[in-house]
Amino acid sequence: MLKRCALVLTLVSTVLFATQAAHLGATSLPLTGAIVVIDPGHNGGNGADPAFIDHLVNAGGFWKACDTAGATTNSGYPEHVFTFAVAKLLQRDLRALGARVVLTRPNDRGVGPCITERAAIANRLHATVAVSLHGDGGPPYGRGFEVIGPGLVVSSVSNTAPILQASRHLASDLRRALDHVRGLEPSTYLGVAGIGTRDDLGGLNRSAVPKVLIECLNLRNASDALLATSPTWRATLAQGLTAGIETFLLGLHRHGPSTTTQPTESTTTSTTTTTVPTTTTSLPPETTIP
Ligand SMILES: [Zn+2]
Repeated sequence: MLKRCALVLTLVSTVLFATQAAHLGATSLPLTGAIVVIDPGHNGGNGADPAFIDHLVNAGGFWKACDTAGATTNSGYPEHVFTFAVAKLLQRDLRALGARVVLTRPNDRGVGPCITERAAIANRLHATVAVSLHGDGGPPYGRGFEVIGPGLVVSSVSNTAPILQASRHLASDLRRALDHVRGLEPSTYLGVAGIGTRDDLGGLNRSAVPKVLIECLNLRNASDALLATSPTWRATLAQGLTAGIETFLLGLHRHGPSTTTQPTESTTTSTTTTTVPTTTTSLPPETTIP
């Protein structure tokens, strides 16, 4: 009987210790408290539902198709498969660092959501950061990645001013991280040194949280297609993306003061000075786009 009690006590204390250790581990992980929205571009059912995918949505003061079917490699490997596979790996890696990670679609068999809803998902969560993943269908001779940040788009349904600076930091951190991904290089045909800005993308224009869209590579390029179709390489890419997002999240406090203490002597610019979240709690609800 004594022996049995001792065994029970040992089991109880082991469970208690394990629970405590897990709790301590969870709170000491570097990205605990961060909310990351990963948006895998397109979806597996988009191509079969043109009526839904082609309907127009307000992309930031202008109308644009809800989404597209996405690109494919020359041998038919689809962009939506690539982006979803990378998103799942990225979700796993970021969760291991303590972040809460939400994908904008739960699988690769559905239709949509529209670009506006993809932005709204992150806005509603007051995400600390959001990243859209894509693979370009560019000219066969061009290869490489481009990290695209939002331009200034102010309309009745959008205002990117509050997220511009933070999104630039995010683009810069991701660009540096992607530079170290084996086999990958900054785009040879898009942007400048792997970074660009666009004001025609609804997913960026409608965002109220720091966000970038990444063309991870060019699926139409034979070398890039070899990378995209390799499970091993996709895991390497996810590690690179994780490193860039982690750098950004850990640097939010560092980024904050440098972007909120801009000189306001100029009356022409003082009214448009952008504000950036100075904590990891993301933008206040007031900035959510209606
Ligand atoms: Zn795409």
